[in-house]
Amino acid sequence: PIDRPPWILNHDSIKTIKKLGEGAFGEVYMAELTTDKVSIPVAVKTMREEVSRDSRLKFMKEARIMRKFHHQHVVQILGIAVHEHPLMLVMELCLGGSVLSYMRKHKGKTTLETKLRFVLEASSGLAYLEEKSCIHRDIAARNCLLTEKHAVKISDFGMSDERKTLTDERLDKVPVKWLAPETMQNKIYSSKTDVWSFGVMAYEIYSDGGEPYPTLTNIQTRAKIIVQNYRMEMPKDVPPAVVTLVSECWAKEPENRPPFSKIHERLLSEYKKEHGDPKD
Ligand code: ATP
Repeated sequence: PIDRPPWILNHDSIKTIKKLGEGAFGEVYMAELTTDKVSIPVAVKTMREEVSRDSRLKFMKEARIMRKFHHQHVVQILGIAVHEHPLMLVMELCLGGSVLSYMRKHKGKTTLETKLRFVLEASSGLAYLEEKSCIHRDIAARNCLLTEKHAVKISDFGMSDERKTLTDERLDKVPVKWLAPETMQNKIYSSKTDVWSFGVMAYEIYSDGGEPYPTLTNIQTRAKIIVQNYRMEMPKDVPPAVVTLVSECWAKEPENRPPFSKIHERLLSEYKKEHGDPKD
């Protein structure tokens, strides 16, 4: 295709403008990508030269996974620059920051319509990933970004994996309060464990960026969920349809949780009922 920039980019074509954040491997910048004399604003994830070979492979894996995905609610990767250091991953720019920081910044001011739109758009991106057999493994409000116009984009594929079900020896590196019971206990990941995490993210959004299980430590959370079948209560003003949906996302048995395709359908019909057709 004529308009698409090449996958492997030269460092010369990328001009960093300002730092946006800190990633696990290096800084993330706002930058300008120039190909065929046309410049576009982009985000660039860099990788420090001294990182381990293992991290470099993980970085490349994230790029390779993201390359196959094209969806309006999934962060688009545009290319990689690997001829020089630092290695760079060039992607679509999301100037609105994370959904988590947005919720906290607009605490008490985000309307129910916006909250429903955020969970709806996230579910749309996740239904796409589910269809592509991509398990994200780190669904949380901190990993959903917003564009300048506040469209939600699923981001941070560093942990994702294409295998259907897998085990992970490094459970300690994962935020416990977002994990499904079978992940906590048996380190099992599936699209249905992403569905559980999505329920926790819905809580984050409706509580204006509140911490899940605010009175519990990670260890207490794990014990209460597994031993007592405890579930969080959603905030008071959450629409009943969303409360029911989230409670299904937190079903003990993964097979009893709805797939993202259904979650998206149900959130869309709730949105239409309350607010009319969504804009996109
Ligand atoms: P970790 O695994 O520790 O979460 P990471 O290396 O995966 O870190 P990200 O969380 O993806 O890095 O990115 C770090 C920060 O950079 C984000 O919190 C966000 O502020 C910013 N950022 C990442 N991607 C983009 C983007 N496409 N557009 C704008 N900002 C971004």
